[in-house]
Amino acid sequence: MATPARSPADGTPGREHPAPATGTTIFPQTDGAIPGPRSDKRGFLKDLLGLAAAAAAAAAPAPQAQAAIGDQPRRRPGIPGKRFGMLIDLRKCIGCQACTVSCSVENQAPIGQFRTTVLQYEIDKGDGSAPAMVSLPRLCNHCDNPPCVPVCPVQATFQRTDGIVLVDNERCVGCGYCVQACPYDARFINKETQTADKCTFCEHRLEAGLLPACVESCVGGARVIGDLNDPDSEISTRIAANKDDIKVLKPGMNTAPHVFYIGLPDEFVDGVDGQATVRLVADHL
Ligand code: SF4
Ligand code: SF4
Repeated sequence: MATPARSPADGTPGREHPAPATGTTIFPQTDGAIPGPRSDKRGFLKDLLGLAAAAAAAAAPAPQAQAAIGDQPRRRPGIPGKRFGMLIDLRKCIGCQACTVSCSVENQAPIGQFRTTVLQYEIDKGDGSAPAMVSLPRLCNHCDNPPCVPVCPVQATFQRTDGIVLVDNERCVGCGYCVQACPYDARFINKETQTADKCTFCEHRLEAGLLPACVESCVGGARVIGDLNDPDSEISTRIAANKDDIKVLKPGMNTAPHVFYIGLPDEFVDGVDGQATVRLVADHL
């Protein structure tokens, strides 16, 4: 087993992973997905500096608007002393979508738009063996280096000291820069509010001492949320106990995701194509 690139103690137990095997393909099997835009990301990112600079110039003269891509503005206050993360044990996920439903009920996302969902994938290794079926819960990773934050021209999207990435819908102008910047397609423009939307780790419930709706409703106990700064928290102890099998999605993007998986096939580590996910939802709609 590979050694984690960073230890669980610093909250980012990602690890180095091999590229997906040649000939390996991953086919999404369901119509559940986290919506996002479909336009060309490469072109978008190419133009981003110029667009962001123009937008920043037009917006209020807040110092954070000067941030270049990759620079992170100062975090805003969160729950003191904590760094929240989520651990998802795929061995316990049965793909029932209870989390998807409870999230929609709790957070009132518009019909057809989801802050979290569980996608069913078929992995065809191309070697003649039977395809493997995997249920993969997806949500915002509350990255430690979130590319969605510095691109916001009006500082509507921000990160708190406890790691939770949020959107101030009073400030958001719905430009979609953050939607484009997220490599996980975790964001979407809420078709009712016309502002950016995504998983918040149910911060309103955490602040009340409750679990997020998806964790509370998970029939298999696959989702665990907790404080990575506390070595005795359930998430910290479970990560430590499974340190050789902890993976994150797209570690090569240097986003330092804080949603960790146990049992994630290597094909997914850099092989999940979020744009394919988006196409699937749009096709369904
Ligand atoms: Fe931002 Fe996407 Fe990371 Fe969430 S998963 S913090 S939306 S870059
Ligand atoms: Fe900021 Fe809203 Fe634009 Fe996202 S959609 S970059 S939160 S203004």
